[in-house]
Amino acid sequence: MEKISVLDTTLRDGAQIPGFKMSLDEKLDLARGLKALNVDVIEAGIPAQSDDQFNTVRRIAEEVDGPIIAGFAWPREEDIATCYKALKGAGKPRVHTFLATSPYLMNKMHKRSPSELLKLAEEIIDFSTSMEWEVQFTAFDGSRSDPVFLCEMLDTVIEAGATIVNIPDSAGYSTPLEFGRLVRKVGKGLKENSNVMISVHCHNDLGLAVANTLAGIEAGARQVECSVNGIGDRAGNTSLEELVMALKSRKDYYDVEVDIHTQEIFPLSDYLCRTSGIAIHSYKPVVGINVFEDSIGIHQGESSNGHQKYTVMTHEIIGRPKGVNYVAR
Ligand code: MN
Repeated sequence: MEKISVLDTTLRDGAQIPGFKMSLDEKLDLARGLKALNVDVIEAGIPAQSDDQFNTVRRIAEEVDGPIIAGFAWPREEDIATCYKALKGAGKPRVHTFLATSPYLMNKMHKRSPSELLKLAEEIIDFSTSMEWEVQFTAFDGSRSDPVFLCEMLDTVIEAGATIVNIPDSAGYSTPLEFGRLVRKVGKGLKENSNVMISVHCHNDLGLAVANTLAGIEAGARQVECSVNGIGDRAGNTSLEELVMALKSRKDYYDVEVDIHTQEIFPLSDYLCRTSGIAIHSYKPVVGINVFEDSIGIHQGESSNGHQKYTVMTHEIIGRPKGVNYVAR
């Protein structure tokens, strides 16, 4: 059975949202929680963005052993060099950089023509691979890019040494069938894809982040990017707990392996709520306080065994203690 690699971006995409507050020690604890959850990759921050972020990435790289530790860098040599410095202590470091590939952003963000951008991509990835660490490339705004150009861009970065290529729905604009079709088309269109992992990173502006990510998996993506409680830019990212529980609960359908210790889901979700200042609503799938309450009556009075036959998951699976009042969240 094929394995899906889980990249958690709570500390990168999540940490940039308004109102997010966590001390360095709390971020380290969250990273340790992510290790206990057994995520494959912890994206720890953007080292060149601030001293705070540099120190967060450096300490996680030095102190959290096991998962791959990724640092995110703007496509500039000095930012990538700062990323190297922050990741030096990591057992398994990864540099993650990007270029925008949609017609609008290529012009607005990079002020370059498509052919100039391909040249820049080659230079940036050449520089990024100089440490011989794993390099991930994101084609920012990928879902609104021309698929033919997207393939050209990904062929260029793969040729230059990137081994993980991420197709994001950066604006949360795509829909599941459409996004799945794009991922499949791009995967098939690449010149060399045998040693390359396709990743997807979705946003929840239309409430479709988890659905789009699942469609990406069905279309061949083998890395998924998500965050605890789905926190992230605007309406958030793909929610880690919803995605993982969909893959676990519907293994019969998806037929893929996801190596997450689900009993750590609730403690980590709760820790993030208590420390970050970012609350979740009571009916949030998987981790909301009400999701194990059945008020309709049909199943009340059944044995707990009968109830379990009706509901998709139990307290125990996600590590939630029974009878504890979490209203304070
Ligand atoms: Mn994002």
